Amino acid sequence: MNITFISAPAAGKGLLSSMLNEKYGFPHVSIGDLLRSVDDEKVKKQLENGEFVDNGLIAKLLKERLSRSDCKEGFILDGFPRNMTQISIYEEVCEKANDKKNVIIVLDISREIGEKRILGRRVCLNCGNVYNDLFPSSKSKVPGVCDHCGHELIQRTDDNLETYEHRYDTYLKETKPVIDYFEAHGNVYHVDGSVTAEEAFQNIEKIIGGYNDKH
Ligand code: AMP
Repeated sequence: MNITFISAPAAGKGLLSSMLNEKYGFPHVSIGDLLRSVDDEKVKKQLENGEFVDNGLIAKLLKERLSRSDCKEGFILDGFPRNMTQISIYEEVCEKANDKKNVIIVLDISREIGEKRILGRRVCLNCGNVYNDLFPSSKSKVPGVCDHCGHELIQRTDDNLETYEHRYDTYLKETKPVIDYFEAHGNVYHVDGSVTAEEAFQNIEKIIGGYNDKH
């Protein structure tokens, strides 16, 4: 199965993708992470400002990543497609990457909760685990250190109020129509992203289980 997460910033795509990866083994393909590893000043600036990166580069990165053998049995796609033009790349590259079913999960979150999550978010660049200093249940055990691999945690340069506001507005303008488009095709499931990660994970497992039963 291929699971695609679409949501506003800070709804928990990254964390839930890691949890699914850990339990089911599907690789976590994060467009944001793929872009963060690109050594190019223009791309770095776009990431810092929360601006969308060129579709051509994204299509190339995705094609390369999804053609690897670990994606044959399924993958978790985090952060794509995010605008209407990317739907054709999704249909061309992602839906054709293997013969598995495609399920789209939309994580719903309010602007206010997203803001709190963004400002407290700390990430591990080594293993991808995500923590939050503003939510006691999501803090790392030792401040600034990853519970999972012991590496240093960082605050992403785009995790600031100004960039968040821009990214949320872009979500409403560019990504909401993508959700509407997929809803018309019937394979979209909504999950509340404002509950704890464990609760959201259980709700996703119900969808995945139900989907497997039906297909
Ligand atoms: P994320 O890690 O998903 O929050 O994405 C971080 C940043 O990567 C975004 O603010 C954009 O600058 C860029 N980005 C991620 N996904 C896409 C996409 N599908 N299209 C264009 N830019 C993207």
